[in-house]
Amino acid sequence: MSNFIGCESEYGHARAVVFGVPFDSTASYRPGARFAPAAMRNESYAIETYSPMLERDMGELLVHDMGDLEFPLGAPEAMLEAVEERAAKILKDFKLPVMLGGEHLATLGAVRAARKMYPELHVVQFDAHADLRDEYLGAKLSHATVMRRCADALGGKSLYQYGIRSGTHEEFNWAKNHSQLYKFGVSDVPALDGIGDAPLYVTVDLDVLDPGVLPGTGTPEAGGVSYAELLAALKTVAQRNVVGVDIMELSPPQDPSGGSTLTACTLLRELLLMLA
Ligand code: MN
Ligand code: MN
Repeated sequence: MSNFIGCESEYGHARAVVFGVPFDSTASYRPGARFAPAAMRNESYAIETYSPMLERDMGELLVHDMGDLEFPLGAPEAMLEAVEERAAKILKDFKLPVMLGGEHLATLGAVRAARKMYPELHVVQFDAHADLRDEYLGAKLSHATVMRRCADALGGKSLYQYGIRSGTHEEFNWAKNHSQLYKFGVSDVPALDGIGDAPLYVTVDLDVLDPGVLPGTGTPEAGGVSYAELLAALKTVAQRNVVGVDIMELSPPQDPSGGSTLTACTLLRELLLMLA
């Protein structure tokens, strides 16, 4: 199938716009996230369009699926430019960009676009990893540095990090002065009350979930949150002024059962039903 389930609106009428970023060139451990957008679209037809939790159906939404971006696979800057351009267009049309990764680095392109449109932008990250390295293996642009680059772009302490349970001592020290980092769980999202109705970009690195829940990701990390805990946190975050969202780091080659892909699809359905 060519679109994610229920995302059948024309672009002009849509309130939210899904696009895929099939990129995983900086993956440090297990590449494969480039296959995630296509796998999620294909497998989405195995889930229901109705959410018993939200008591809404995808059929009630106006969501357009623009397909995947194209870019040279070995060139992070070119990928980021393509993402920024796409996100900027969707934002200027006052629609919600919904990005499907791909590796986490792509989030930087969408955050750059959102920050240009909304100087007061804040970012919420759900992730096992801090992603705050200044460089990784000599590279400034990597899935291990992406939130450092986002924090650089945002300035202030406008980055909120939840579920973090992996990183270097240096990263955690840096976070003390430059971000709002909450270790292990995701129950501290009410801390976001402090930002009022400031525009918010929400990035979900799926490895925030416990590997028992979602093993199909490039760098799984023990001690993660449950699906129910993540959904509850997202429900709280969705009540704020969310201007963009992404779901990153699903890796279909590491998902032989298909269960992680279906979990990612269900999470995307719930996010769309909360936000679109
Ligand atoms: Mn991660
Ligand atoms: Mn990450």
